[in-house]
Amino acid sequence: MKNSYTMFFTGNRTCMHRPNVLDQQDWPEHKSRTKSRKGLWAFFLLMLLTGGFIAANPSTSRIEAKVNAPPADKTIRPEPTFVPFQSPRTENEISSAPAPGVVTASRSAAERSQLSGGILQGKEVRTLSLTVQSSLTFSVCRIVAEDRCRALAAHIARKLSWFLDVNREIRQGDKVVMIYQDHPEEDKLIILKLKYFSEYLNKALEMNYFKTPRMDYGSYFDDNGREMTFRLTSDSSPIRDYSEITALPGEMREGHVSGHAGTDFKASVGTPVFASFNGKVTRVNWNTRRNGYCVEIDHADKGVKTLYLHLDKALVRPGQRVRQGAKIGLSGNTGRSYAPHLHYEIKSRDQKKTVYNPFIFKYHKKYSRTISDTYRKDFDRAVRLYDSLLQAS
Ligand SMILES: [Zn+2]
Repeated sequence: MKNSYTMFFTGNRTCMHRPNVLDQQDWPEHKSRTKSRKGLWAFFLLMLLTGGFIAANPSTSRIEAKVNAPPADKTIRPEPTFVPFQSPRTENEISSAPAPGVVTASRSAAERSQLSGGILQGKEVRTLSLTVQSSLTFSVCRIVAEDRCRALAAHIARKLSWFLDVNREIRQGDKVVMIYQDHPEEDKLIILKLKYFSEYLNKALEMNYFKTPRMDYGSYFDDNGREMTFRLTSDSSPIRDYSEITALPGEMREGHVSGHAGTDFKASVGTPVFASFNGKVTRVNWNTRRNGYCVEIDHADKGVKTLYLHLDKALVRPGQRVRQGAKIGLSGNTGRSYAPHLHYEIKSRDQKKTVYNPFIFKYHKKYSRTISDTYRKDFDRAVRLYDSLLQAS
């Protein structure tokens, strides 16, 4: 069993994609809407044929009522570019197979899933195991209560987005086994251990949450104590004190950007934000309704501009020259932002406006950490505990 979950993280593979906004095709509202449109045509046809006789029929009135209701399509769809991953309004659906297909109502043996609980450090621990059906969110929402399932699915996707393209590579039949703690009242959802098996990629992933006393925030490590996500070295990092990265840039074909263009760093309001490189401030606080307070810096020598959005405060003026590492603002939650975070974006100066993932952009240096000998025993103990909880479930 253990061996089937060998790590597949190669060290230079970072994902650049984020999940799309909710794929409504999976949801019953959409189907009923389609039906009601068909019903509408049928109704008009009948009206023509019967000269209005049928209008008194109660069932057709019902159809009319449905048609008059605003179509679900017209609900607010935020522009994906400037919305943090964790936003409840963009709960991220992950399409699995290319065609979503019809989801049957009954559970087959293959999709039988479990949810059970235990206690870790006085706090409830839940386990979840499932086989992806139609989409990750859909599958999680079949098991976990509706008010939390989307947040949980988004959390899982966020972890996976470092290792695979969550839009294209999460497929029907993939397996998720995990333990987590959920404290909505503290706005805390921590995945303690996540095992993921991708049939499509024929690869497995296993990550363990751990926090040494020296770390401000916990992170994810493989069984050997090596951190599985990256951080930017502090000289060029736009922010140093953040709890996690909640979104990586979207699709980045040359000259074409769709989806989320930036990297979102979850950080408290007021956290210092720094210029990534030497440059000249070109814009400050433009389109604040969307971007909030914001700064744009031009780095002519590197061929890019960097953008820092949703700031609590911008501390520079247009035209000002800044050195790498200069404090240019404070991270915030302004503009179209639903949780405190820094949206950091690197885009080319040319017309193509190519967007770069900071973790593969050549001028950024990255690193990951390893659990030191001092905490190694504690880490190993935690992993054993996670495994025993998983086995017990
Ligand atoms: Zn963002």
